[in-house]
Amino acid sequence: MAQVQRMSRLMVKTLRDDPADAETLSHKLLVRAGYVRRNAAGIWTWLPLGKKVLDNVSRVVREEMDAIGAQEVLLPALLPKEPYEASARWEEYGDLLFRLKDRKGAEYLLGPTHEEIFTLVVKDQVASYKDLPVMLYQIQTKYRDEARPRSGVLRGREFQMKDSYSFDITDEGLAESYGLHRAAYQKIFARLGLDYRIVSAVSGAMGGSASEEFLAPAAAGEDTFVDCPACDYAANTEAVTFKLTPVSEEHGAVEELDTPDTPTIETLAEHLGVPASATLKNLLVKVDGEIVAVGVPGDREVDLGKLGEHLAPAVVELVTAEDFEGRGDLVRGYVGPQGLEKVRYIADPRVAPGTAWITGANKINTHAKNVVAGRDFEVDDYLDVVVVQAGDPCPACGTGLKMDRAIEIGHIFQLGRKYADTFGLDVLGQQGKPVRVTMGSYGIGVSRAVAALAEQSADEQGLCWSKEVAPADVHVVAAGKALQTELALDVSEKLGAAGVRVLVDDRAGVSPGVKFTDAELIGVPTILVAGRRSAEGVVELKDRRTGEREELTVEEAIARLTA
Ligand code: ATP
Ligand code: MG
Repeated sequence: MAQVQRMSRLMVKTLRDDPADAETLSHKLLVRAGYVRRNAAGIWTWLPLGKKVLDNVSRVVREEMDAIGAQEVLLPALLPKEPYEASARWEEYGDLLFRLKDRKGAEYLLGPTHEEIFTLVVKDQVASYKDLPVMLYQIQTKYRDEARPRSGVLRGREFQMKDSYSFDITDEGLAESYGLHRAAYQKIFARLGLDYRIVSAVSGAMGGSASEEFLAPAAAGEDTFVDCPACDYAANTEAVTFKLTPVSEEHGAVEELDTPDTPTIETLAEHLGVPASATLKNLLVKVDGEIVAVGVPGDREVDLGKLGEHLAPAVVELVTAEDFEGRGDLVRGYVGPQGLEKVRYIADPRVAPGTAWITGANKINTHAKNVVAGRDFEVDDYLDVVVVQAGDPCPACGTGLKMDRAIEIGHIFQLGRKYADTFGLDVLGQQGKPVRVTMGSYGIGVSRAVAALAEQSADEQGLCWSKEVAPADVHVVAAGKALQTELALDVSEKLGAAGVRVLVDDRAGVSPGVKFTDAELIGVPTILVAGRRSAEGVVELKDRRTGEREELTVEEAIARLTA
């Protein structure tokens, strides 16, 4: 027996027009179809239809987490400050964290993610290597004071996340727990009907070694990723690497060029009539207060995020005019690596040994040509630091990469021992000595997945859910007359008795046109209409996705839908 939900009693108010503040398709449609309601920026109510879809996503996630042996728990969202101070994230999260005080003045936060608390729980509950590995998960409300909580439930300030954590003794054990999660995620997203790619990612503030993101390609996505049209390589733009390939060409000697008033790459390239790519741009930054030069081809931009990732935990800042005081060796706008003796030189792999460049001559209004990497200057560190562009070579096969937008729906990390070190998470090992535990952390945006599904599957008429997540299996429409309503309710009862989840539009005084429009907007996979031929016991079945229609007798329709 499955639920038969009557529209006449359902709290749903569909809207013809898009909400004024909505920018993305999922935001517009989820509001218009009566799934969610905005309370404040990034804070949402899940209305009856929306709650059903959210629960369906949670159910799929729960089933697959249980299947890999992860155990469900529920931790508080209101958390004491101390563990987050110990991990330094109380500071590092900055404005993203919701902080509050209790009546005694003690400080708390609303959990943005729970590595600290899970580490403490396991420290308390697990004593011996015999109790490991352990995988724990929860489906819980998370809080992040996002800078731009736009896009509806895609980026909430309060949102639902499945977060899980694995605890192992060995690196191999961690790799295994990670592999189990990865496989479970593949099943979950396939069952939900999401089109997704797995991309390697930088681990960001989390620290640790391996990390992959699950991205759902969609125009509304806030992530950009690169995708190889020829092989299966895909990566977060920040994780793309360029191969260092030394060049063995002969070049003439360094020659100085008189280049008045050319402190920028644009003015220089124009003055010399060369492409920007023939020049070497040297960006000066401060790394933990010390000036460092970063060399990249003149047509490329330095990705400060990538640079920061490479140099973490050192802090990278841009230089200011004051930093040049007393530094006669640094001629602003005319810096060249061949004259930088006291400055660490970092270069992009494109500045490979043997490549020749036009670059600053470390003299005002002067540049130099035939400045060869490895001959005229040494690179201290080759780091991939340029902003990736479409057409850059695929690191796996060399084909020009495509760039696409996507929504991050999941993220898996091999954290290693970072949190175990912070909280002293040890268990008694086989040899009777304490052994430090190694951890993984794994997230799925449960509420975000609803929006991602809406983004990927909607059409001009409205939402269009896959069977696993739809709020009902069949949307029965009673065209209007008493006989039609009677038939619609009768068919609905029979379907419900056979285990089919039914939403039946039995509203009186609502025109058939409005009902059809609402059915398309709400997006249940199959629409059954009790219309013109109701007296003969004939109904129409319509596939919401393909639009295909078919007339069938009531018996045939029921047989079809219960098959
Ligand atoms: P983003 O880069 O989109 O801000 P994140 O990398 O900070 O996300 P994680 O810390 O990896 O997010 O969180 C795990 C998952 O939780 C993400 O993969 C995403 O699906 C989801 N998620 C993160 N932030 C939000 C949010 N503000 N609203 C809804 N879902 C979110
Ligand atoms: Mg992430």
